[in-house]
Order: sequence, then structure tokens, then C-alpha cells
Amino acid sequence: MIITKQKNFMDILRRIGSKPVFLVGCSECATLCKSGGKEEVLAIKESLIKNKIPVSGWVVLEPACHLMNDKRMLKKYSKELSESTKILVLACGNGIQTLNKLFPEKEIIAGTDTLFLGEISRVNEFFKQCLLCGECILDDFDGFCPVTRCPKSMLNGPCGGSSNGKCEINSEIECVWDCIYQVFKKKGKLDVLTFIQKPKDWSKALENKRRI
Ligand code: SF4
Ligand code: SF4
Repeated sequence: MIITKQKNFMDILRRIGSKPVFLVGCSECATLCKSGGKEEVLAIKESLIKNKIPVSGWVVLEPACHLMNDKRMLKKYSKELSESTKILVLACGNGIQTLNKLFPEKEIIAGTDTLFLGEISRVNEFFKQCLLCGECILDDFDGFCPVTRCPKSMLNGPCGGSSNGKCEINSEIECVWDCIYQVFKKKGKLDVLTFIQKPKDWSKALENKRRI
């Protein structure tokens, strides 16, 4: 899931100014992150109206990053959309750019910050899991991703700075290399770690269009 958080309301307000605005949310990730579901769209609408900003309409797209679906769903809102020059999008950066593509003549305002690709660990708690490197090496590390979970993306062992199993960059997170070591030790396969990982081929992460 793509993890997002809503921007500070005062920053959103500054971008909108006093002109009428149309609001867009997303039924998928932004709904689960509570950054752009129906509840959040309606809450923003109420706050904007309290601040005397006209809201011409709103919709929660299913999902915002689906170009064809957006076209279909937004047809019903052509009147409301024509009444505003600005669209506030509460979705991930992907959804925001899809709206930008659909309405190049309007000002698209990003209402969220997109943080990372992660799991839902529990209600309202998310855990960073993948940097979309395009060349997955999870199999080499029994399902741990050092590319993502080590702030230095160390591929061939720890940096040496961890303390009590925590990362030296952020003591709130586990050193993923400590995790890898402990699991491999338990499984009696520490020798596997003598294998040297080649530098990652980041060109694979540059693929920007795929047809299936
Ligand atoms: S190795 Fe790459 S693709 Fe696999 S989980 Fe890590 S960042 Fe994602
Ligand atoms: S302490 Fe561990 S997780 Fe943190 S930067 Fe060093 S190797 Fe990476």
C-alpha cells in the first residue's frame, strides 16, 4: 500500500487562496491511511467552508490513480468542475499526477505527502517495506529488505553502528542487519552471508512504462 499523510491544513489553505475549489479523495490507500477517504474529504470541506472558501463539489475516486475510471466517474461532475479553477487532491502522488493529466488547465493542489510503500501493521500504523528498486533481492535475505529497511541500504553486512539491535540512524527502528543475522544464525545458515551482493542495478528502477 502507498502510505500518505495529509498536509498541514494551513499550508493547504495558503495554496487554495480564496477561489472555489473541487475536492478529490481516493477510495483505496488514502482511505486506509485516513488521509483522503470520504471522512477526510468531508472534514476538509467543512474546514474550508468555515474559512469562507467555496467548495464547488467533491468526489472519492475508485481509485484516484486509475485514469480511465477517473474519466468515467468525473463526467458526472462536469458542472461542479467547471465552477472551480483549482482541484485539491487527497491521494498519493500517483493519484495527484493522474488528476493533473486529466485537467492540465486547472491548478492541482497536493493535499497529502506520499511517504512510502508499506504494510498495514495494525490499525493506523504502517511499516515501510519496499523502495520499488526493480530488482528484488528478498530471497537472498529470507524476506528482509536491506535496501529499504537499512537507512544506508547496506547490501553486504551492517555498517557497524548499531547498538542493542537498534539502528544508529534511527534508534526507533531495528537494525535490519541484526535481524538478518539473528534469523540466519537460528536457521544455521550464517555461511550464506559470505556471499557478496553485487552493486544494485538501479537502471531497473528507471522503467517508467509497462504493458502487460
Ligand atoms: S529488494 Fe527492492 S523490490 Fe525487493 S522489497 Fe527491497 S526495495 Fe522492494
Ligand atoms: S545500524 Fe543497521 S540498519 Fe542502521 S544504518 Fe547501520 S546497518 Fe543499516
